[in-house]
Amino acid sequence: MKLWVTPAGDRWLCDECQKLYEKKIEEEGWRVAFEKWEPILRCSECEHSDMDTPD
Ligand SMILES: [Zn+2]
Repeated sequence: MKLWVTPAGDRWLCDECQKLYEKKIEEEGWRVAFEKWEPILRCSECEHSDMDTPD
């Protein structure tokens, strides 16, 4: 999971949701603060964790 610094504040995004935000990331100049592999972290978009297996 990556912590993104966005104009609206920091948010965690998983790799899947990062793809959805690609355009916004580029337009608004989001940057990655850091990356962390923690099962407890939840993506702010889909609310899944890195440990969740896709259905
Ligand atoms: Zn997600």
